Amino acid sequence: MRPIRPGDRGPAVAEIRTVLSGLDLLTSDGQGDSYDAATERAVRAFQQSRGLSVDGRVGAETWRALDAARWRFGARALYHAVSEPLTGEDVRSLQERLLEMGYDVGRADAIYGIRTSRAVAQFQRETGLDPDGACGPHTVDALRRLGRKVVGGRPQWLRESDAIRQAGPTLVGRTVVIDPGHGGTDPGVVVPDGPLRWNEADLVHDLASRLEGRLAAAGVRVQLTRGPSPRTCLPDADRAELANSLGADVFISLHTDGHVNPEAGGVATYHYGTDNGVTSATGERLAGLVQREIVARTGLRDCRTHAKAWELLRLTRMPAVRVEVGYLTSPEDRGRLIDPRFRDRVVEAIVAGVQRMYLPIERDVPTGSIDVSELRAAVAAGTVVD
Ligand SMILES: [Zn+2]
Repeated sequence: MRPIRPGDRGPAVAEIRTVLSGLDLLTSDGQGDSYDAATERAVRAFQQSRGLSVDGRVGAETWRALDAARWRFGARALYHAVSEPLTGEDVRSLQERLLEMGYDVGRADAIYGIRTSRAVAQFQRETGLDPDGACGPHTVDALRRLGRKVVGGRPQWLRESDAIRQAGPTLVGRTVVIDPGHGGTDPGVVVPDGPLRWNEADLVHDLASRLEGRLAAAGVRVQLTRGPSPRTCLPDADRAELANSLGADVFISLHTDGHVNPEAGGVATYHYGTDNGVTSATGERLAGLVQREIVARTGLRDCRTHAKAWELLRLTRMPAVRVEVGYLTSPEDRGRLIDPRFRDRVVEAIVAGVQRMYLPIERDVPTGSIDVSELRAAVAAGTVVD
């Protein structure tokens, strides 16, 4: 869909304004159907609070987030509907509350799936309610009463790290899904450079293919989310779903950045997290390792790691990161990215980061010290460390 943007008018704008004023982001009474400056400010504030890209327009992803945001916890009954699962902010609040209390709902993905329903049933059993797995007024009351007393960690992330520890340090037999961003009708960042046109979609597919080769050599099962020239551009939610259906252990999305200012440059890595401090501990660790390895091995400027609630990171059920490897719009970064040897260094850095995620903390090694070719040799000789 074409994004709804400043200057637009109509019923869709009126609906957006109503949701925003319900969230106290729009100070007027939310009447009116014109996308004025106040609406744009409110949309930006909303995008910021949800970890979305802040552009002040309502595209598909922001629209879905707004749609989900209409629902406050307790405002409607929640239950598991098989054909069309309920989604919304109220579902996310419920999941976060359950997670804080130690119930296994998986990730707080705002979708009322079977796991959430089971966790609710378990909570109901333990508090003497009818364990029907649906969240009606009695269950809401019980959650409100008990939820506040509970303090503590984030059990689901502890479970995720447990799974990683138990799997041991070897990469052999793991499944990594690599996601080259954009593709098809969406070229991503495009920069004309003399007679050449560099585009993000092609560059990140090249990086993904190199990464695929390196990981496969280390004994990893690798799957790419797209080929070099797909007909259409796969939405992020579908990319996440693909990784879930493959039972991936790790998900790595590759992008390059762009900015009107040619001075902007460097590498940044994103992992799942929200403003209320909910974060994927393993995703955060992987992001930190990948980021540090890339900075150390390539000398790209360090634009650090950041928590984002993008669909790609939110809907994936395994440690997931999105790496923005340099700015195509920066002459300095671009000059390096178009050199295949530089891209090999980027790829080695990512492999080293993934390998380190599987090393127990006490056996972790200094940044830049893993020799990726040794991983390959170890696989060939059948002497994989374990
Ligand atoms: Zn991109």
